Amino acid sequence: MDQPKPPVDLQTDRPHPARVYDYLLGGKDNFAADRAAAEQGIKANPASRTPPRENRAFLRRAVRFLAAERGIDQFLDIGTGIPSAPNVHHVAQQVNPAARIVYVDNDPIVLAHARALLTSTPEGRTEYLDADLRDVASILDSPQLRATLDLGRPVGLLLIAILHFIGDENDPDGIVARLLDALPPGSHLVLSHLTGDFAPEAWERVAEIYRRTGVTMQVRPRQRIEGFFAGLELAEPGVELVNRWRPDGPDPDGDPTDAEVSVYGGVARKP
Ligand code: SAH
Repeated sequence: MDQPKPPVDLQTDRPHPARVYDYLLGGKDNFAADRAAAEQGIKANPASRTPPRENRAFLRRAVRFLAAERGIDQFLDIGTGIPSAPNVHHVAQQVNPAARIVYVDNDPIVLAHARALLTSTPEGRTEYLDADLRDVASILDSPQLRATLDLGRPVGLLLIAILHFIGDENDPDGIVARLLDALPPGSHLVLSHLTGDFAPEAWERVAEIYRRTGVTMQVRPRQRIEGFFAGLELAEPGVELVNRWRPDGPDPDGDPTDAEVSVYGGVARKP
C-alpha cells in the first residue's frame, strides 16, 4: 500500500521569521514558539508592530509605482512571506492584468500557504519557488522562473524586508549584485531593510532574541543599505524611512516616530 507522503517539517517548536512577522501583522498562521518570540520582541521594543505594518504599505506603494509609472510587468519577489492580501500580484495586476510574478521563499510554511499566491488573473501568471536567496543560481536557473519571466525584458526585483536575515558572512552585497547582473537594463530593485539608526539598543535586543533561537538578524545603518543600490538610479526620494517613501496621504495609523518605523526603503532603476 502507498504510504502517504510525510508532511513538510514546519519546525513548530522554534520561531520562524515569516511566522513572527505574520503574528506582528495580526495574522493567524503562526505557532506558540513564534508568538512567544514576537511577544519577547515587543517587550524589547514596544513598537515592534509598526515596522511590519509600514513595510507592507511601502511594498504596496512601490509595486504600484513600478507597474503604473515604470511600465514593469514582471516581478521577482524574494522573501515573499506568508500571504497577506493584497500580495504583489494583486497590486501589480490591478494596474496591468497581464503582470507575471514569481514568488520565492525558503520557509516551509510559506510553501504550505502558496496556493493563496497562485490566484493570478487569466491574462497574467504567478508561480511559487521554494528556494533560498543565498543560492542565487537555484533561483535564476529554475525552470519555473524561466517559464514565467522573460529575463530579456525588464524585471522588478523585490527584496523587501529580507536582507536583514542575511548576515555579512553570507555576502548580501554580492547576492544583490548577482541578481541584478542577470537582469536587463530598465529592471528595477525595490529593497527595504531594518535599521538600528534610531533605536540601536532596542534593535540590538531584538536581534539577540532572534540569535538565541538560531536566526540571523542584522540591522544595518543607512549608508550600508544605500550601498545595495550601488550603480543604480534611485527614484525620488532616494533611500528613506518607508513611511516617507511617496506616501499616499496622511498615515492612517497616526504619525509613527522614526525609531518606531526603523525600516529604510528605496526603489531604483538599472541603467
Ligand atoms: N517580503 C514580505 C515578507 C518579509 S518577512 C514583506 O515585506 O511583507 C521575510 C521573509 O523572508 C520570510 O518569509 C522569510 O521566510 C524569508 N526569508 C528569510 N531568509 C530567506 C532566505 N535565505 N531565502 C529565502 N527566503 C528567506
